[in-house]
Amino acid sequence: MPELPEVEIVTSSLNKLINGRTIRFAELLRDKLAHRETRSTFAEKLENMTVNDVRRRGKHILFELNNDLTLITHLRMSGRFQLFSFERENPKFTHAVFYLENDERLIFSDQRHFGFMQIVRTSNINEVKELRNLAPEPFSEEFSVEYLRATLNSSARRVKEFILDQTKVCGLGNIYAAEALFLSRINPLKPANEVSAIKARRLHGFIREVMAESIEQGSTLNIDPENLERNYYGGGYEDHWRVYDREGEPCIACATNIKRLKHGGRSSYFCPKCQRM
Ligand SMILES: [Zn+2]
Repeated sequence: MPELPEVEIVTSSLNKLINGRTIRFAELLRDKLAHRETRSTFAEKLENMTVNDVRRRGKHILFELNNDLTLITHLRMSGRFQLFSFERENPKFTHAVFYLENDERLIFSDQRHFGFMQIVRTSNINEVKELRNLAPEPFSEEFSVEYLRATLNSSARRVKEFILDQTKVCGLGNIYAAEALFLSRINPLKPANEVSAIKARRLHGFIREVMAESIEQGSTLNIDPENLERNYYGGGYEDHWRVYDREGEPCIACATNIKRLKHGGRSSYFCPKCQRM
């Protein structure tokens, strides 16, 4: 599943490709993608709307349109946007199409069917259920060391599970959580409220660092309109992972074999020596 850095890369690519352009016509092909709309209300609301901005909040991509409307989208497991010219056929699992001028179209396809779209009032955006409970953006001032310490202190849940909760820390998924915990030398199963003040400070820094380095890496490559997420997961970045997906391989710090633990339906990768309980 794309995590904050990947969503950031897709968002900034979309902003470069379609900011200022007009959706001449929008077509919803899978009803459940936008369950609050019908195919006709989806088409009506988006017809002739200009995209004024494409921005990100957490792992949501927000298309700001005119008439005080915003299209909120979430890629979830496998959603992807592609900008196609007229001669290209829609890919399999195409669930929405946005026809632009010059016979180009923006396609949303989703093999796993978990993607999500909603059309809301821009002036009301912070009250929308999907967004209102999100934790502060990790690169904002609001996400301070003090914030992270206080929020960790409030819970005895396992720290890994806790930092994946988007209402506590925003943007991390399984990969970057594993990486940040490894760099901070925190065992993923440790109760959040037992993480020391020093380690909480480290964790704060490394949460930002692992995401920033990934965004930076992805931003250096040219945009391919037909493959916006080429820059991640298979784009070479996995070679940089320190513990994620490295079960049985030597720890880069101490050469102990990396362990994998399964809990809560997810795998946690960690070094049993560097990340002692
Ligand atoms: Zn180690």
